Parts: sequence; structure tokens; C-alpha cells
Amino acid sequence: MSKKLQAIRGMHDILPDKTPLWQRLEKAMSTVCQQYGYSEIRMPLVESTDLFCRSIGEVTDIVEKEMYTFDDRNGDSLSLRPEGTASCVRAGLEHGLFYNQVQRLWYQGPMFRHERPQKGRYRQFHQIGIECFGMSGAEIEAEVILMSYRLWKNLGLASELILEINTLGTLEERTAYKDILVAYFKQHLEQLDEDSTRRLATNPLRILDSKNPAMQTLIESAPQLIDSLGEQSTQHFETLQGYLMDAGIRFKHNPRLVRGLDYYSHTVFEWTTTSLGAQGTVCAGGRYDGLIDQLGGKQTPAVGLAMGVERLVLLLEQREWPEATPLAYIVYQGEPARKEAIQLAERLRDQLPEEGIVLHCGSGSLKSQFKKADKVGAKFALILGEAEIEENKVSIKFLRDRQEQQQVPNNQIDAFLKNNS
Ligand code: ATP
Ligand code: MG
Repeated sequence: MSKKLQAIRGMHDILPDKTPLWQRLEKAMSTVCQQYGYSEIRMPLVESTDLFCRSIGEVTDIVEKEMYTFDDRNGDSLSLRPEGTASCVRAGLEHGLFYNQVQRLWYQGPMFRHERPQKGRYRQFHQIGIECFGMSGAEIEAEVILMSYRLWKNLGLASELILEINTLGTLEERTAYKDILVAYFKQHLEQLDEDSTRRLATNPLRILDSKNPAMQTLIESAPQLIDSLGEQSTQHFETLQGYLMDAGIRFKHNPRLVRGLDYYSHTVFEWTTTSLGAQGTVCAGGRYDGLIDQLGGKQTPAVGLAMGVERLVLLLEQREWPEATPLAYIVYQGEPARKEAIQLAERLRDQLPEEGIVLHCGSGSLKSQFKKADKVGAKFALILGEAEIEENKVSIKFLRDRQEQQQVPNNQIDAFLKNNS
């Protein structure tokens, strides 16, 4: 027997019962982006592997073990994008978008990481991201945080999301801190798990991000980066906190928040929820002033964030949403009525562009057509039979209320539907 065809593990179909929530989120995001003057950018799903190694960092989880990398037929190493920032910066450099100008950009689309699939963690997942270029002040950091907060409010999620912020300081400050941190962990080598022992040599800051419960006491007593920061970095972080307080946003300073990607500096932040288990981070971002320079461009300040769409949809699923159903379903008997029905449907779609008008397709008794009308949730069945065609009328059956069937002249149906929708 041939093997049953199935989607790849960790890569999911988004079925019609779920797409309304996706659309709700996407629409809310595009509205917010328009409000703040952000333009959409669309990048390819595949890039040269080198781009991600040079941006995300060779010794990050993503590049070390999560990328879908393959050789193109001509031998070039390509990777499915694991995130959007690297591609966005590549696109900006390639098209001169950073040259003497600021940019406020957003994007959305699938990302790919070979992780262990579980609730809220998939191999193809979707992100909506924001990237801003050319602005070095804390106000742009506050702006992207305020944008995300506005999105949560518009989706009714604000009360269940918590904002955590931290600062990573400059590269120099972080390098100095790494030495202090490594010295600390070396005194407690026997308490480090395997991952952390490896990271001690490659990426010691990431040890702070360990989710291993056995490591938490050690991590909590570790020296903090904030104590290694200079005046300017401290001031920048305080300014941001001031802006957030002025805006009435509640946040927590989490000195152990480091993020998994190498390119961040100064501010980092995460929005988290407690209702999705271990996959609680729904949005994460920060400042990455070093990345453009690192990829061959002129030093350019940059701030961005990325939201996990699946995780946000899981939160939206926990609430009740009114279903979007068509207003009318057109049923008919006989060929002349079918012709008339096609025209009626088009006319109503012109006259009531916001409403759903579904045309029955195929044959079937009136009774079976009414059943279909009911199944799609239509409010009215519009009936075209021989008698209706002759009299130039349409019969209207109320599918949701106990009301007598009515007849309305053909040219008054739109008015009737408007008054009754
Ligand atoms: P996590 O700590 O959950 O692995 P991350 O630090 O790897 O997240 P980022 O690279 O910052 O995440 O991506 C931003 C957001 O994208 C995350 O906060 C999360 O909401 C979402 N995300 C990341 N990886 C996945 C995945 N494999 N499946 C679903 N969503 C994901
Ligand atoms: Mg991850």
C-alpha cells in the first residue's frame, strides 16, 4: 500500500475554521502599522546560508541546530529563513533603503526552524515583524513597544500579556561583563548542565536564558550586566523606562533577559503570557545597532520586534468571537431561474459590498438547498422559482427568525436586505 500523504511534521495547514482569527490579527496589525506610518516589505523565504550565519551568529541555537539548510543545484548553500530581521537588513542594504533616511518597516510571513514540535512551537511558523532604521533614541524603542501594546488592546489581549525589558549595553560593556560571568560560572562548574558547559566557551550570556530548573538558583545569584554598564547605557535605559511609565504601560525589569540572537545591544524586551505553558513569549525584540555594520553597511541604529502569530492565535482562540456568516443564500429551480440568480447575486454584491451573498451551485430540491443555506449560516434564503421569475419578484425566507416568508419586487431586494441586516 502506498504511504498516506501527510504534511511535514511541525508544518501545519491552517484550516478554514481558524483563518478568521488569523485574518483578525493580520488586519489589526496592518491598521496599527498604518496609524504609525510603517510601510510593508516582503522578502524571499530563501536566502544564502551565509546571511544568517553572519547576522544571527554562528553559535546560536538557530544557526547551530535549527536551520533548514540545503545545497541549490548549482552548489550554493541556501537556507529557509528562520527569522525576518536578517533578510530585511539584507534587502535594505541591497536597495539603499538606509542611505541618509529613516525607515519604519513591517513584514509578515512564514519562518522555518527545525525544533521539537509542541504546542506553540512549530517547524514552519509565522511572524509579524517591525524593523526601524536610522533612529538611535529611546523614543523609537518606546514607539514599537506602544505599537504592540495598541495591538494587544485592539485584540482584547492587553490584560494577559506582561512586558519584560532589559538592557544589554554596548558590545564593549557586554564583553567586559562576559569575563565576569565566565569567572563566576567557572567557580561553579559542577552545577552547569551540558548545554551551559558548552555555552561557557561559546556564548556565556545564553546560560542566563537556560530553562533548566536545576540551574535557576545558580543563575539568580550570577553577577548582573546592569552593574557593568556605563553612564550612557544606564541613562538610555532609564529614559526608555520613563517613556513607558508616561504611557501608562506596566513592565518588569528582568536583568536575566538576554534573547537568543547575537545582534542585540542596549534595549531588549519580551511580551509574555502565563497561559501557553513554556511557549509563553508571544513577541520579542530590541535594539540591534551593530547588525547593519556587521553585514557590510554603514553603522546604522536599528530597532525591531517579532511576534509569533501561532501563539497569538492560541490566545485569541480562548475567547468568543462572533462568526462571520453570509447575509443571503440564493436558491432556485430551473434553468431560467439559475440565469436570473447569477445576475441577482452579482447585483447584490455591487449594492451590498460588505455582505456575503452565496449562490447555490448545482441542482437539488428546494428543501436540500435550504439545508445548505442554513449550514453556511445565512440569515436569508432568496428564492427564485418559476412564479417569481414571471412576476419579477424574489421570495425571502427568514432562516434565523420565526417570520413569514415574504415576496419583494426584484428591484427592492437590496433595500430589504439593508433594512434587515
Ligand atoms: P523561544 O524562546 O520561544 O524559542 P525565540 O527567542 O527563539 O523564542 P525569536 O527568534 O525572538 O524567538 O522569535 C520571536 C517570536 O517568534 C517568539 O517570541 C515566538 O513568539 C515566535 N517563535 C519563535 N520560534 C517559534 C516556533 N518554533 N514556533 C512558533 N513560534 C515561534
Ligand atoms: Mg527559540
